[in-house]
Amino acid sequence: MNDRLPPTSPASDPTDTEPRAWVGCLACLISGRIIGHWVPAVEAADLAPEVVHGRPTSHDELWCFDVEGLPIVREMSPTEATEWGRLLDAVEEWQRDALIAWVRSGDYVAEGSGDLPSLSDFEERYVGEWDSFKDYAIELFEECGYAAEIPEHLLGYFDLDAWARDLAYDYTTERSSDGAVHVFRSL
Ligand SMILES: [Zn+2]
Repeated sequence: MNDRLPPTSPASDPTDTEPRAWVGCLACLISGRIIGHWVPAVEAADLAPEVVHGRPTSHDELWCFDVEGLPIVREMSPTEATEWGRLLDAVEEWQRDALIAWVRSGDYVAEGSGDLPSLSDFEERYVGEWDSFKDYAIELFEECGYAAEIPEHLLGYFDLDAWARDLAYDYTTERSSDGAVHVFRSL
């Protein structure tokens, strides 16, 4: 159906973050024909070669040449694209951006031997979204009641910036889609 590469994304709306995969035929590609479709990532593994070609075919090897809305951008098998799609469907919509950011940061816990992240570790480590890491640090400082531990006449000398800088070693931060930061525990 599609006859050009690189396939352009069907998403005209930039806020559309639907995970998608462009599934194409390897044999056709080798012979110089670009045959493929954009499909929701979860459906990539179920796409039949006949559907991709729009007719009966002996070509049975399909491959995802491009993906969109996934935390990684590379070619992959249709099975892997479906696994990514299922994973992103498994988290609440408001957590999806954070999960993608976590993987993108590179400092995440993978499930098994592949690249897919562990959802239980994600839920354990995701702290939330703040305008900056320092904003998170200030909130933590207040929540822990640290101000009460410092004599009031010395509080003005406390170097909150230095404290936040050291605190940051225990965390991973990654920019969120709206320009704030997602904060994750890294230890
Ligand atoms: Zn083909």
